[in-house]
Amino acid sequence: MSDPLESLRNRIDELDRRLIEALAERQRVVTEIAGLKTDPVLPLQDAERERDLLSRVSALAGAQGLDSYFVESLYRRILEHSVRFQAARQDNKGRGAGLVVAYQGVEGSYSHTAARSHFAAAQGEVQFHGYRSFAAALEAVVCGEAEVAFLPIENSLTGSITETYDLLSQTNLHLIGEEVHRVEHCLIALKPVPLGLIRRIGSHPQALAQCSNFLAALRDCRVEIESDTASAAMLVAESGDLSRAAIASEEAATRYGLQVIKRNIANQKENYTRFVAVAREAKPADCRLPHKTSLLLTTAHEKGALARCLDALAQHGVNLTKLESRPSLERPWQYLFYLDHEGGLHEQHVDLALRELAKHAEAVRILGTYPRSGTVSLAQKQQTTVPISQGIAEAPTANIVAPLPAAKEHSAYRLASRAHRGTDTIIEIGQIRVGGDDAPFVMIAGPCSVESREQITACACAVRDAGGGLLRGGCFKPRTSRYDFQGLGFDGLTLLHEAAQAYGLRIVTEVLHPADVDAVAREADVLQIGARNMQNFALLKAVGKSRLPVLLKRGLMASIDEWLAAAEYVMAEGNGRVILCERGIRTFETATRNTLDLSAVPVLRERTHLPVIVDPSHAAGRREWVAPLARAARAVGAHGVMIEIHPEPDRAMSDGPQSLDFEQFRALAREMSGKQVG
Ligand code: PEP
Ligand code: MN
Repeated sequence: MSDPLESLRNRIDELDRRLIEALAERQRVVTEIAGLKTDPVLPLQDAERERDLLSRVSALAGAQGLDSYFVESLYRRILEHSVRFQAARQDNKGRGAGLVVAYQGVEGSYSHTAARSHFAAAQGEVQFHGYRSFAAALEAVVCGEAEVAFLPIENSLTGSITETYDLLSQTNLHLIGEEVHRVEHCLIALKPVPLGLIRRIGSHPQALAQCSNFLAALRDCRVEIESDTASAAMLVAESGDLSRAAIASEEAATRYGLQVIKRNIANQKENYTRFVAVAREAKPADCRLPHKTSLLLTTAHEKGALARCLDALAQHGVNLTKLESRPSLERPWQYLFYLDHEGGLHEQHVDLALRELAKHAEAVRILGTYPRSGTVSLAQKQQTTVPISQGIAEAPTANIVAPLPAAKEHSAYRLASRAHRGTDTIIEIGQIRVGGDDAPFVMIAGPCSVESREQITACACAVRDAGGGLLRGGCFKPRTSRYDFQGLGFDGLTLLHEAAQAYGLRIVTEVLHPADVDAVAREADVLQIGARNMQNFALLKAVGKSRLPVLLKRGLMASIDEWLAAAEYVMAEGNGRVILCERGIRTFETATRNTLDLSAVPVLRERTHLPVIVDPSHAAGRREWVAPLARAARAVGAHGVMIEIHPEPDRAMSDGPQSLDFEQFRALAREMSGKQVG
């Protein structure tokens, strides 16, 4: 006679096989339905039908004596997977190779489990690589080692994970998805021993905090902090010690051959962590799915600026789901605001709201627009949205949403125009303020090129002694002749950085290549775009993604409107901190190196809210004419000047004839400081 336990287990195996077959059959039908939903505007998620289905299955469950909450939550997972599966079919059409997803921690950690759940529907191979830290996971995406980083961003009990927010603000990456993951802490050990035998419990500090009531009730038990929950589980497995346990997920227990002693031991039973998927490129929005959008916002230092931004959303019926402020890493006592709201950029009411919001913000960066996680809640009303574009919308190329053109706006520069912003933009670089009518006149000075430690240190000392705060110096030189000195590159940047640090100065330096922007931005305080690159659009977009102010020189043959249209490229990427620098243009006149177009200054002050400075050195080409032109620049309303200086101008590797020696510079600085040197 067969063992009754054995035969019951066989029946369970058979039932599981049928359940899996039924799920596979369900997926095939879903695929057929997806085939019929080729109309790009038919939503993939039918909220009405989902609600019906959930109430139907929970009634069925009740009738069969099953817990209806359990069955309903099971079905939410099935539905969520089914929507993702359909979206992924569309997504994967163009994708051949596998996908690498970077997360923090080791296998079996909550991040790993949530990432697996998020990418469960993805077609093709998905590899999950664990990294030591959040920063390392993001770096893997930046350098192309992984396509996506998957990071926790907030927890329903402990709030925002601020490290993730701060890291996101420092990269140019895009949010392409989110996952709300239920966290269920379990006590796990080698064997299902009685609780009273456990002497050591290890876990991540967050998990320990969330289970504090459970831990407080234990006697003779030491609590140990580990780097993550899954590592704690791994240590228990390796120790072979029956008196050790970890707080981790059930998944971690299975992965490391451990047993669950007690389930759901957190103080609060409902515990969710929201994760975000972060990629190098924005993803085209699939209009068939309900979306969310995340923004990074800086507001002017003005009364009510944030309130006006939020009001713009409310006015257009955009529902804010999260607002978080983080201190600016560059500007003490100023804040960056992170906003999440319902709706995608492809929806008209969102588009209108963001255009309005952009008018009141200093800068807006769209971190991403992505499908919302989860199924509908039974109580939730379905919002009707008007898509601007239908089907799979273009990925948002611009990071900022420009306002709608008003009557007197120039179509090529909406964000830069006065019509967009009535008050002057004031750019703060450390203690120095550039722009507006009240800030002190700014003097930026330094050599044309960084040549040696001695040279740049001497210049930094001269700038500091003259009361200046901003040191210029070229490390990557855009030379007309390839046989001329091209600059010391990153070695020069290190010297410039050391000199600036030694004398408490901030750095202005030119960047020549989009690929160098991030590296230069790590050392510099202002990124200069040289005259020859004023219309290098790839470079303008790259510095637009940086958070540093940009000093945009006027092109040799550029009209004022072309120049402002170039500034718009930077601003449209979310960086509103552009300083315009007039440095002379080409005319028939050859007596000077270039013709300093001083009339551009009042014209710009009328057309744009951006600060304007003048570089008399490159205009004049001769040091004798630098001081008079600097005086003139101030007289016509410039916010500052940029002057080339050198300890021995006649021995300079570049632009010696137009460089002032220190004596001449001191005299000019003294004269200018009638209105203070910046
Ligand atoms: C410079 O400032 O060193 C420089 C190269 O200037 P421009 O781009 O104006 O020629
Ligand atoms: Mn120069």
